[in-house]
Amino acid sequence: MNSRVIAELIAHLGRIAGGDGQATGLTPVQWAALRYFTHANRFSRTPSGFAAFHGTTRGTASQVIKNLIARGYLVQTRSPDDGRSVRLDPTEMARTIASKDPMAALVEAADALPPGVRGAFATTLRQMQANVAAAKGGPVFGICRGCRYFEGDGCCRDELPPYACGFVDQPLVEDELEELCINYATNDGGTRARPDMGPA
Ligand code: SF4
Repeated sequence: MNSRVIAELIAHLGRIAGGDGQATGLTPVQWAALRYFTHANRFSRTPSGFAAFHGTTRGTASQVIKNLIARGYLVQTRSPDDGRSVRLDPTEMARTIASKDPMAALVEAADALPPGVRGAFATTLRQMQANVAAAKGGPVFGICRGCRYFEGDGCCRDELPPYACGFVDQPLVEDELEELCINYATNDGGTRARPDMGPA
């Protein structure tokens, strides 16, 4: 299979994940934002984080976010970690509509793959994501396990927390370890382009 066909198949799956906007009243970009703010960690739930994740401008990201706030899906607060930034959190309404997420069809399809195939597929997609990010100068999103800044092994000793982030120098709780992070960096010495981390 040639590379063009592979890219078309990935783009096709992405369109399915966006839905047609009729069943739920949410457009593909609104679904993308809702998913992002539901699965990103507290350091990444900012307008600039979503703009970087979605590969769009801050202006476009702000419009999408404003709409979701007005419709009751997101709530905006000043970040407790950085008083200059805002943080966006999903509301109960956002968590409720998540059961209608058109991406569920893709999750089921991934679930149906044999475990070995799924692991190899995930590795391949991560490599493609890193290649695209490197070519376009964007960030590579990831989770704590496997990040070069991840510290701790789950044990408390010498008054250190069981888990911590060396990038922001803050303790982490177990639930945060599987959340998407804009500050993620690979553990193998690879580098990534830093997004604009100024005030959101
Ligand atoms: S350890 Fe890495 S992925 Fe986890 S919060 Fe810190 S920078 Fe983000």
